[in-house]
Amino acid sequence: MTRAFYIGRFQPYHNGHQYVLERIAETAEEIIIGVGSAQLSHESGNPFTAGERILMITGSLKEIGIPLYVIPIEDIKRNALWVAHVRSMAPPFDLVYSSNPLVMQLFAEAGVRVESPAMYARKLHSGTEIRRRMLKGEDWEHLVPPSVIRVIGEIDGVARLRKISQNDCADESGQEDRSL
Ligand code: ATP
Ligand code: MG
Repeated sequence: MTRAFYIGRFQPYHNGHQYVLERIAETAEEIIIGVGSAQLSHESGNPFTAGERILMITGSLKEIGIPLYVIPIEDIKRNALWVAHVRSMAPPFDLVYSSNPLVMQLFAEAGVRVESPAMYARKLHSGTEIRRRMLKGEDWEHLVPPSVIRVIGEIDGVARLRKISQNDCADESGQEDRSL
């Protein structure tokens, strides 16, 4: 039985994540998805709460066809202890899928088998690029599954991102006062 582990921040969940998870589901029997930096939200780089990200993921993977466990993982800021931290929260797993060099290194040092999935059109399908498009009012909806569009609509997520990305240096005309 292969229970695979996959971790990301999913700010937001996008078609790159979806592509990789659909490939993993072709071989793994169960998948655990760790929602990293779970404690963070309402920041320009981390606009969505762990619960909102869980809605995006479970909604997008309703038809994946194998058991799926989505668990929040808070940061501990101690890389040497991080694998033990993950293991203390997640159901047991025997294989990790990740392309993140730090995640790969930490699991490999702990003796866990790691596989590195191929990237899916990475330039466009990246959380950073999607947040940039949301801020600029550019199209982003084609880069995420329909459930993610629904969740972001439900929570008015684009307006939130814009609001929290402002600073308090704008005067009443909306002009930024850079002298401060
Ligand atoms: P951000 O730009 O906010 O860091 P991200 O797109 O890198 O967002 P993460 O949540 O940081 O998304 O990444 C989770 C995992 O998904 C990482 O292992 C990352 O390498 C992988 N990943 C991200 N984009 C893609 C993609 N387009 N194709 C395949 N894997 C991806
Ligand atoms: Mg990333």
